Order: sequence, then C-alpha cells, then structure tokens
Amino acid sequence: MSSEPHRHEVVIIGAGVSGIYQIKRLVDLDIDAVVLEGDDDLGGTWYRNRYPGARFDSESYTYGYSWSQEVLDEWDWKERFSGQPENLHYLNFVADKFDLRRHMRFNARVTSMTWDDDEREWTVELEDGDVYVSRFVIPSLGPLSMPTLPRYPGMDEFAGPSFHTYHWPKEPLDLTDKRVGVIGTGATGIQVIGELADKVGELKVFQRRPNWSSPLNNSEISAEEMAEIRGRYDEIFANCAESPGGFEHVPDWRGFWNLTEEERHAHYDFLYTQPGFAILVANFAEIFFDQAANDEISEYIANRIRERVNDPVIAEKLIPLDHGFGMQRLPLETNYFEAYNRDNVNLVDLSEAPIERITATGIKTAAAHHELDVIVYATGFDAITGGYDRIDIHGVDGRRLGEVWKDSPRTYIGVLAHGFPNLFMIAGPQSVSGSTNFPRAIETGVDWVTDLLVQARADGRTRIEATAEAEQEWVDEVVRAHERMMFRRSKGWFTGYNSNVAGHQEGKIRYQAYFGGAPRYNQRVTELAANGYPGITVA
Ligand code: NAP
Repeated sequence: MSSEPHRHEVVIIGAGVSGIYQIKRLVDLDIDAVVLEGDDDLGGTWYRNRYPGARFDSESYTYGYSWSQEVLDEWDWKERFSGQPENLHYLNFVADKFDLRRHMRFNARVTSMTWDDDEREWTVELEDGDVYVSRFVIPSLGPLSMPTLPRYPGMDEFAGPSFHTYHWPKEPLDLTDKRVGVIGTGATGIQVIGELADKVGELKVFQRRPNWSSPLNNSEISAEEMAEIRGRYDEIFANCAESPGGFEHVPDWRGFWNLTEEERHAHYDFLYTQPGFAILVANFAEIFFDQAANDEISEYIANRIRERVNDPVIAEKLIPLDHGFGMQRLPLETNYFEAYNRDNVNLVDLSEAPIERITATGIKTAAAHHELDVIVYATGFDAITGGYDRIDIHGVDGRRLGEVWKDSPRTYIGVLAHGFPNLFMIAGPQSVSGSTNFPRAIETGVDWVTDLLVQARADGRTRIEATAEAEQEWVDEVVRAHERMMFRRSKGWFTGYNSNVAGHQEGKIRYQAYFGGAPRYNQRVTELAANGYPGITVA
C-alpha cells in the first residue's frame, strides 16, 4: 500500500478476454493505462473455471481474437471446442506476445470507485487500501464472474472438499474412488458431470430443474483443417458479424411452416450431429417466437434424450417441462445423457425431495442422507450485473450504481450509464455480449470505446456521459427486444433469475442483455459513431 494515489489516464478493471484487448488498444495508442486484476494472474473466466470438462462451446476459431494477423497466423487451435487449459494458454500467449503483463497489476481487487465532477476523474480504491486516480475507467468485469452459492444450513460443516466450479482448485484433485456430489445442471454442471462420470467412484447429481441440452460434437482440428481455417479467417469473422448470435451458424429462413414435418425433422436430424450451437442458431428462426414451432423441436430433443437414457423414468426426469428448448441458455454436452446409464451415477431429484442441509458427511434431502467425499456447487452466477454490484460505485452527486440498477440495469447501448461519466463498460449490461458469442461483441465494444476516447481526447474533451433520454430510449429498446422472445417467461440468467441472489427471483425480469442480435447492435453503434455520438454529452 502506498500513501500517494497512483495516477493513470485510464484504469481498466479485469484482465480477462476484454481487458487484454482493451489494454492492447490503449498501449498501441500510447495512452497511459493500467489493468487492475483481482486474481493473481490474467485470464478471467479461463483462469478461474478449471473444472474438468470446462471448454468453449463457441467454435475455437470464432472465439479467438480477430484483431492480430500475427496471432491468427501463429496460433493453432487443436480442438473445435478447445478446453480450459489451452484457452488460458492462448490468452497468455497473446498477452506475452505483446508484452501486456507489464501494464497489469494482479491481486488488485477494486472495492469502490467515486467520481469527482470538479476534477473530472475517478478515485478507484483497492481491497489492500491502494488508490488509483484516473480520468477514465473501463470495467471489463466479465458477465459471469460472480459465482453464487446456495444458502443451505451446514455448508461450512462439510468435512471434505467443497467448492463452486468457478473455484475448482488449481492443485490436482484426485477423485478416483471418491463419492462426488454435483449440485446444479446448468451449462457448467452438464460439462462437469459428463466429464467426471467415468473418473470418480460414485457421482450423485442433485437436480432441481432439468435443462435442455444437445451434443457439442467436438472434434480435433488437424493441421490441414487448421490451414483451411486460417485461410478463411476473414470470411469466418465476417460471417460471425452478420449472424444474430455472432457465430458462423445462421438461422434457417426457409420458413418453418413452408416445410413438411418430415422435411423439418430431416433438418433436426442433420443439426443434431452438427457442432456447437447449430441445433439452436441454425434452426428455424420460428422456434424462438412461435410456440408450436418450439413445441416441435422440444419434443424432438426430448425423444433424443429418451433414446439415449436407458431408464425411462430417469429419461423423463431429465426432460424439462417448465420451458421449451432454447428458452434458457442452452448447455452443450458430451456424454452427459449416457452418464446416467452408468451404475456409479445417480440422479437425485430435488423437485421431489429438496435439500434440507449439508452435513459433515454429505447432503441431507427430505428423503435421504447422501454420503459424500466431495461436494461441487455448479450453482451459477450473479450474471452480468454481479461484477458491478461487488464494487461500490458512486457517480455524479454520489448516486450509487447498485441502487440505480437495483431492479434492473439501465445503460446506453450497454456501454455508458447516465450519472456515471467516463465509465465505459465492456460487455456491459444491455450490450449484445451476454446474448451472443462473447468475444465477437467484446471486440466491437473495445473498438467503439477506444474510438470514442480517442476522439474526445483529440478534441480536448474530458467528460463523456450518456444523456438520460438516450439511456431511456435504449432501455426501451432492450425491453422491446425481450418482449419479442418467448424465453422472457423462463427462469434463467438471461432474464436475471438466480434463486441465490436477493431480489433476483422468479417473476421479476431484469433486462440484462440486448436480444436484438449482433448485426442490429453493430449497425446501431457504428451509426452512433458516424453521426457524432448522439445521446452522449462530450464536454
Ligand atoms: P446456471 O446455468 O445458472 O445453472 C445453475 C444450476 O444450479 C441450475 O441447474 C440451478 O437450478 C442450480 N442451482 C442453483 N442454485 C441451486 C440451489 N440452491 N439448489 C439446487 N440447485 C441450484 O449456471 P452455470 O451452469 O454455471 O452456467 C452459467 C453460464 O455460464 C452458462 O449459461 C454459460 O453462458 C456460461 N458457461 C459457458 C460454458 C461454455 O461452454 N463456454 C460452460 C459453462 C458455463 P435451477 O435451474 O432450478 O435454478
């Protein structure tokens, strides 16, 4: 801790996918900036999520950065959906290649930020007492960086290892012959369960609600394939920019009702064998808007589950009844359903007998006590706004961001918030990041923020703030986009639901992400810049 504040023109918070690119842009422009990272190394999501099975579910070559020809030339992806160790290696490769670490400070957890309207600067305080003062702050916090745990009695009493998947230990953990309990069947739980099933003594899956899931269809990328991908990078990124989800997959616009049921099923059969999110985003667009279309694809996937799970009673328990296919963020799986055909894997249905408490030796439900050696909480995140809530952010006249966003966040294009000048959020609430292939939208955000900053500096301006009217218009647009989607009725983090966070309960939608699609969003922000940033006061 030093007594004098550190001064930089820009403070970036977070050294994950966003922070790494943001610092690269600023370093190239010779702008004095520092990255403050709470962890002891860079990588964000890919530094933290070390659980077995953690991997991209975007095609690796659509997830990687597009902005460096050298990186594109030099980095070979080994798998279509690359695993956490390689992903972390990639981010380190990029940071080291451009010598970015020297602009990063680790173990620098930001606890509060206060805006001084006279000086036009932010005071940023760290957990260890250190203080940074900067003209601009760019939170690059990650939409899924605040893990949430249940609040069961006795959680501290469990004698064995127990942790959230986000905090999976860095040290090797031998689970051979161990009795492992996994709570949660979201994208994380589904990855970890598929991976652990044949590696542990016994696996108990504590499921509150089943989730739709379809095959990831991962495969290795050969040298020849990688050469072909490399030759197509321009086309790949152009395709991603034009697709609503930011992927290479594009919706099928033939028209659900223009085809026969047989033709539609042939398309589902094809998509089920395709990699990644094809089954969702290369499907008929109607599945997101038309209940009958969604019912049909849901029944198709349900039948696939019935085919894959031997015990019909278990199969039915794995089929969601409270929401249709694609109505919550779709987890992609590898051997997930087959795991339940193994003798050492058991499904514990919490909808029949909820968890009552954690004991020293396991989990007690209303029906039984399950003896366990390890408990894994795959219980999700305080998504999108959680990273902001943990920092006490005070804007103009001391107004608190957490208070303003208590019911639902309010932003202008997911980047700016009225009353919080010179704060530029990358992948912020109500941007398109949360609803699409994250890194594609992250690059859009970083480039847009950097251009705005460069222009303001060139004009000698030092205060940038969204107007209240522009913010309201954007919030209205975000709400309209939500209302077009059937998933607004389901319980998932897309709509801000998290049973473990006060105020984020069912029936109370938080408008956290923009669902108008990447092309519309990109067009909107491009036009804003081209038209001199209407809705933003630059003074
Ligand atoms: P999640 O989708 O929110 O799932 C959390 C799970 O925990 C749900 O099954 C939930 O049940 C259960 N749960 C929560 N609290 C519980 C409690 N108190 N008792 C019992 N069960 C409880 O979280 P996630 O699986 O971590 O995924 C979050 C997001 O991370 C994903 O949607 C995705 O965007 C991202 N992710 C990406 C990848 C990738 O491949 N790139 C992998 C993993 C995650 P309910 O459904 O009943 O609430």
